[in-house]
Parts: sequence; C-alpha cells; structure tokens
Amino acid sequence: MPAAKATTTCVLDCPDGCALEVEIEDGRVRSVGPDRSAGTEFICGKVAGFDRRLYHRDRILTPLRRRGAKGGGDFEPISWDAALDELSGRLGEARDRWGGESILPYHYGGSNGLLTDELIDDLLFARLGASRLAKTICAVPATEVALGMYGKMPGVAFEDYPRAQCIVIWGANPKGSNIHLVPQLREAKRRGAFIAAIDPRRNFGAPEIDLHLPVLPGQDLPLALAMINWWRREGALDERFLAASTTGAETLLKRAAGWPLARAAAVCGVEADAIRELAKRLAESSPAVVRCGWGLERNRNGGQAVAAVLAIPALLGKFGVRGGGYTLSNNGGSRFDPAAVIGSLDWRTRRLNMTQLARQLDPESGEPLEPPVKVLFVYNANPVATVPRQGVLERGLGRDDLYTVVHDQVMTDTARWADLVLPAATFLEGTDLKVSYGEYVAGGLRPVVAPAGEARTNMQLFGALGQRLGFGDAAFAWSDAEILERATAALELDGRRAATAVATGGRDRYDFGGATPIQFDSVRPRTVDGKVHLTPDALGPQPFAWQAPDDDYPLALVTPASSRLVTSMFGETSVDRLTMTIHPEDAHGRGLASGDRVRVFNAIGEVHCVARVDDSVRPGVVSMPKGAWRRSSLNGATSTALCPDDAQVVGDAACFNDARVEIEALRYRQRSPSSPWAAIPS
Ligand code: SF4
Repeated sequence: MPAAKATTTCVLDCPDGCALEVEIEDGRVRSVGPDRSAGTEFICGKVAGFDRRLYHRDRILTPLRRRGAKGGGDFEPISWDAALDELSGRLGEARDRWGGESILPYHYGGSNGLLTDELIDDLLFARLGASRLAKTICAVPATEVALGMYGKMPGVAFEDYPRAQCIVIWGANPKGSNIHLVPQLREAKRRGAFIAAIDPRRNFGAPEIDLHLPVLPGQDLPLALAMINWWRREGALDERFLAASTTGAETLLKRAAGWPLARAAAVCGVEADAIRELAKRLAESSPAVVRCGWGLERNRNGGQAVAAVLAIPALLGKFGVRGGGYTLSNNGGSRFDPAAVIGSLDWRTRRLNMTQLARQLDPESGEPLEPPVKVLFVYNANPVATVPRQGVLERGLGRDDLYTVVHDQVMTDTARWADLVLPAATFLEGTDLKVSYGEYVAGGLRPVVAPAGEARTNMQLFGALGQRLGFGDAAFAWSDAEILERATAALELDGRRAATAVATGGRDRYDFGGATPIQFDSVRPRTVDGKVHLTPDALGPQPFAWQAPDDDYPLALVTPASSRLVTSMFGETSVDRLTMTIHPEDAHGRGLASGDRVRVFNAIGEVHCVARVDDSVRPGVVSMPKGAWRRSSLNGATSTALCPDDAQVVGDAACFNDARVEIEALRYRQRSPSSPWAAIPS
C-alpha cells in the first residue's frame, strides 16, 4: 500500500511553529518533513527524526506499576482500569487524610500546546484542592518584565530582520532553537546589516556576524546599563519619544549612571571599546532590532537584565519602522482564556515554586511543608533532568511515604522513580492547539497516527480521573475533538476569532493590518496608559540593582539548549555521552585535554563526564547541555546536580547560570556490569 500523507503543526517548545507533512505507511510514521504548501521550507533534525521517539524501546506502551525498589525502574504492566482505580484512590485518600494541598501537580508546557497543559488538568486539581504550581523554571522573568513594560506587545517578525541595519542577538542561539531565523540573519548580512551576538558561547562563525561580546554569565545587566549610560552622555537618547511614550526613565537612567564603560567592561569580561562600538552602531542604525532570548534571565540579575535590554529600542526611538524594535516572545498577539472553555476556577491553595521541588520533597531540607507532599503527579515534565539540586530531588523521590505518578511518552529519569507510570500520546498521536511564540500562526492538531500501545492524551487521562472521582463537570466527559473545537472558539488572534479550520487540524496565519506587525505603528503597548513602563513593578523594590556573582568556585557553568534536545525531550535518543566544554586556557591550567574524563564539582554536587576543549566558550566559563539524561553521565548525575535552587527577585525564577564549579581529571576503573564505573580521584 502506498504511503499516505497527513499534515499537522509542530507543538514542541520552539519559536518556529513549523507546518509538518507526515508520511504514514501501515499505520506507522515513516517520515516527518516540512509542509511546503503551508510555507515551511525545512524543519529541524529533532522532529525529522521523531519516529525514533515514537518507536523507541523506551516508549511506554501500557500503564506500569512499580514492582521493585523506588528508582530501580522495575515495573509490571497493569490495565488502564486498574491504574485509574489505584490513582483515583490515592488522590482521594490524600485529599481526605492530609488535605488537598498534599497533592502536587508538576508539569510544564514544553512538548505540549494549549489543550494539554493548564486546562482539563487544572480543572481536576482545582476540584481536588491540590497545591498550585508556580511555573518558574523558564521564561517567567522575561514574561513578567515584558508584560509590565509593553503589555506583551507583539514583536518584530523574523521575516522582517533582513530590513534591519543593526541586529543584536542577545542571550539566544537561533542555531539550537529558532533555526528559521538563521536564513533571515544571512540575508540581513548579505544586505549589509551589522550583526552582534551577546553570549558567553560563540554560536556564530566570524563571517556570520560582526561582533561577538562574550559576556560573563549573569553580567548582561551591567552591559546594558553601560550602553544606556553612554547614550545618555552622548546625547543619543530619543528625548521626545521618552517624554511622550514612556514612564520610569529616570530610575533606569539613574541606575545606569553608575556604570561607566570601564566598570562594566571589567565586570562583564569584555573590552570597553567593543561595548562602545555596539552602543554606537545601535544608536546610529535604523531599523535596528534586538532579538532578546531567554539565556540572560537564568541568573540572580536575570529579570533586571531583560528589562534593561527591552528598554533599548524605546530609549533610542527605534520603533515605528518595519524591522525596528525588539522580539522576545511573539505570542502577545494572541489571547486564549481557559475560563472560556472550562469556566472560572476558584483555586486558591498554596503555590509551590517548581524550581524548588527538591527542597519541597526532601525531609532533610530543613523547610518541611505542612502538609507534606504525599502525591506527586508529573506530566509534561522530567524534573530529575531539569530541576536544580538533582541529588536532593532524588532523595526526596525515594521517600517511602510519597506516591509518585508520571504520565509520559518514554521512560524518563523521573518516571523510573514513579510508583505508577502511565503511557502518554505524542503530538502526532493526539489532539492539541498550538499558538507559535515566534511566527504569527496558530495550528490545530488532530491525530495523524493511532497512539502506540495504550497511550492516552492528558485530556483523556484527566477526564477519566475527574469522572472516577465523581466530579460533575461536563468537561471531564468531553472528547478531545470537542475540547479542540471549544478552545478554538476561545482563541483570539490579533483581536479576531481564530479560523474554524483550526478545530479540524488547519492553520491560521494572522497579521496586524499588514504583512507583519510594526511596533508603535500597527501594534502598540498593551499597558493601561499605552506607554512603555521602563521601570516595571516586577523588578521589585530595587529596580536595576546588580548583584555580584558568588566566587566560591572559579568557573561559571552555563547549561544552554542544544540542537539535539528540546529541554530534556529526546534524551532517550540523544546526548549519548555527556560532555563539558572548556576553553583551552582553563583546560591547560588544569592539565586537561579533549576526551579526558573529568569531575565537575561544587558544594552542591558533582558530575563525571568527558571534557571537550575548544574556544566556543570564553575563558572562565564551562558549558554542559541543558536537559541531558542521567544515562549520558559517567556517575549518573547531570548539570542540574550542580545548580543552586535560589529564586531571583523577578518572578521567583530559577538561577541556573549562577552555578560556579571547579574541574579536575578523573581516572576510572571498571567495577561491574551493573555499576560499571568507579571513580578514582586523581
Ligand atoms: S522544533 Fe522548531 S524547528 Fe523543529 S519542527 Fe518544531 S517548530 Fe520546527
């Protein structure tokens, strides 16, 4: 039988929102590629190889009940009926014995769209009176700041980047995520644009950009403030725009006055002349655009830094022209109100910070919760690979009095700790609704193949639990198709209803009275007064205050996204050997060469992995991929074992890049097949 073709939209955590064409043969996905008829010319290798996840040996095909010790990964298959009976019994028991807050839903939206996170799941947990989750692990500082400053004004579209004369890529690596920006940058360069990248790592080759500022992790704030101070002194600020269209400039400028170029250069670890050159180029060019990523928010100064960076186009009057302004998340043009689908939830229980799950679960943390978490319900997430203080987290997951359920597609590092594992459908097997946060497009998803084994969508799982627990909400009985239809009706794109075709798997590309939005022309700040608030309340009582980094260990550890993983997704097939990249200067001083086995350590934990010596990271900085799984590491620990779980002022958010480490060589001897390596410190 010839292969059939189906189309859908990628729902993974990536700005690009690709249209996909899927080839299906004998009920199985044979290939995934771009749907060129819908405007997508190419896709990334992660999704092109998605069949590897669908049919991987670690794919979870039936509900599984733990049979051996916690964390041992020994399970027996059980029926869905038995699993739902057990789980609903546990949820009901926890609510009745310790109160609803003893139940903690733990989830993120990484591989899912609008339907499979914070919809039917929220309805269930609200009805149970469960603890709420503060989703602080990513994007919160940037989102809170952008909301406060611009009301999430839609950003400059990527296809308008070739019009810009100056482009600054700040804390983002489009080659890892957002790959469709790369050809736009090449075209801009061909047309003569000045392109700068600000990142401790070198993500671009010399011919691709004009300036690389390898700022030390956590020091983006001084860099931005120094440029702002330089513009003020040079008379480069757009005073007319500031007076007419902004508030809060005085506070920002006052704080910036403390950062002459020389001081910032010393703190940031870059040349003062390079900062001056970038400031000059930005001031003199129009259109000029800043692509602000999420790399700069992952430290104690993160939210403050994002605010200073997003202030740049306002300070210099760069708005009002196509290709001028900023891009952060481009989902500000959409509005989706879950209450319009499931009704308002009166859910006022305690809120637990997802970044601090380790200390919440660990009885030895010294901060016991009342009530303690008795049921941990994990879905759309793999906290063992993503949450700071991995060692402490695993100690908590090993508690005998904790019941952990994981709903996932493959046997993740977290699922191995579960008491009950439930098989989840992938985005090619289920129903969802995606609004891209890069492109201005929304897409509905309908199953293109039947789920592998007995996999179910989140909506099916939470609906079944809601009914079993006796909650009377009609939503628990809706089919996935019905939920998509209702959600599509509740989705606004640029102020109008999403096209009904979305409800049957179609796409809807939206604009703003033209081909793409023009900031301060076709789109404006969505703040109460329509102005830019340069010092948003989210910055707290000391806006733009800089905090020095810890210096207890000499090397800063960054854990950026890689081109092979989407956060921790695909760890079952990718990153088969965990590497730590170190600059030749730092390696030489420690007697390290590429391929050496090393111990990366600090007071929190240690990771044994393999060194890669090259100058893609700056001196003083080492890099490990975000989201790698334990199997890739020589001692079963990955980067999160080294990351503090402190919360920053803005949004109580994670500070991964505040990790400081030391490194030394390791020698290993083989011990036994089941525990293959034993470390012998040098
Ligand atoms: S992950 Fe991004 S680049 Fe890859 S297919 Fe999905 S939207 Fe496209």
